[in-house]
Amino acid sequence: MKYNALKGIQDILPPDVYIWQSIESTARSIFFKYGFREIKLPIIESTDIFTRGIGEATDIVEKEMYTFPDKADRSITLRPEGTAPAVRCYVENGLHNLPSPQKFFYTGPMFRYERPQKGRFRQFYQIGVEAFGVAQPTLDVELILMLRDFLEGIGLRELNFEVNSIGDEKCRPDYKAALMNFFGQNLDEFCPDCRRRYTTNPLRILDCKVERCIELRQGAPAVTDYLCGECREHFEGLIAGLRALGVRYTLNPNLVRGLDYYTRTTFEVTSEHLGAQKAVAAGGRYDKLIKEFGGPPTPAIGFAIGMERIVALLKEIAPAVEPEPKVFIATLGKEAEIEGFKIAGQVRAAGFWAEPNYGGASLKSQLRKADRLGAEFAFIIGENELKAGKIQWKGLKTGEQGEVEIRNITSLLTDNVKPSNP
Ligand code: ATP
Ligand code: MG
Repeated sequence: MKYNALKGIQDILPPDVYIWQSIESTARSIFFKYGFREIKLPIIESTDIFTRGIGEATDIVEKEMYTFPDKADRSITLRPEGTAPAVRCYVENGLHNLPSPQKFFYTGPMFRYERPQKGRFRQFYQIGVEAFGVAQPTLDVELILMLRDFLEGIGLRELNFEVNSIGDEKCRPDYKAALMNFFGQNLDEFCPDCRRRYTTNPLRILDCKVERCIELRQGAPAVTDYLCGECREHFEGLIAGLRALGVRYTLNPNLVRGLDYYTRTTFEVTSEHLGAQKAVAAGGRYDKLIKEFGGPPTPAIGFAIGMERIVALLKEIAPAVEPEPKVFIATLGKEAEIEGFKIAGQVRAAGFWAEPNYGGASLKSQLRKADRLGAEFAFIIGENELKAGKIQWKGLKTGEQGEVEIRNITSLLTDNVKPSNP
């Protein structure tokens, strides 16, 4: 019997996994400096969190959710995104009683039943960020700045930061009406999804990726022409802040996002190097969602970074590197083997990766293995060395060799090599 991973779901193996680790550690260190604290959220939630939170008339809820009954016949969903669960967590744990803003981030897998293709998977990973309790656009600016710091921190430049405002419950109805008026003129030429969206959620037509629909929406009214006074002021505050801080951005009046909960600021970071799936991160405000979830009215904003897409970009710049052991411990005979494990302990305590010989092989084949692993040193321990309290060492990349007393191993290493960190 041969088993395969499910369609659209992939294993992440070394050496790629080292890229993942370094992305996550950069995120942790940069977000920390902005006062964002890590939370761990569940992977499964009650389905209504998403139908209510994301909205019935969205691609995610209509066709992309992994939903199933549990043994007690409750409807459970594998989370397709992190904002709705984060809001559930914020309200349930009374985090609104703490001083605001409350700023959080999380990392982990999301699940969407989509058509698998380049940059699109059914299990994919996000780093998500959510900040609660500030309505002013200064917070929006800071989030975008933090996202830029992070992307530059992992070595990604040449990205486009697109921003927009999609208004609020006061101004959006007028805009919706204007859009329906415009799309209504040749509705039958749009794709079936857009024809449906026309009645359920006409803003989503702006997000359609079908070529013909993109053509048809040329000249559609721009949301920014329909903002009410307060939304306009908020948007101007955002733009002024981005300018003042030197964040390069472009205005994209078609940027609406696929989830219903967004209000005002929306933004997306895209790369020209990714083909059709070019968004590496996306976010926006969701000022109404906390109240919707039973909490006190609380403005909030967040974004999510798509891990697979930034990994793909980083691999284009430089291939993933497999770390190599610093020391291979070659041993001859049972006693030496035991001593070898002790010496390995010494090497590890000094901060280096020690790879032992697990027994049996000839010295020649052990050294061949050390070479194949890319080890920097081989330590050779046989009966004579044991008696003398010494080991033979060989620099596998330099050809140097010598002898060192066992008690001086640590300084041999610390004087000559950098510690091994993944
Ligand atoms: P897209 O327009 O690419 O479908 P989206 O609007 O559905 O994206 P969001 O829900 O905003 O995406 O998620 C934020 C980020 O997560 C995206 O910008 C992308 O980088 C990543 N992402 C979303 N869906 C997938 C997926 N199926 N596979 C891999 N990454 C994904
Ligand atoms: Mg999508």
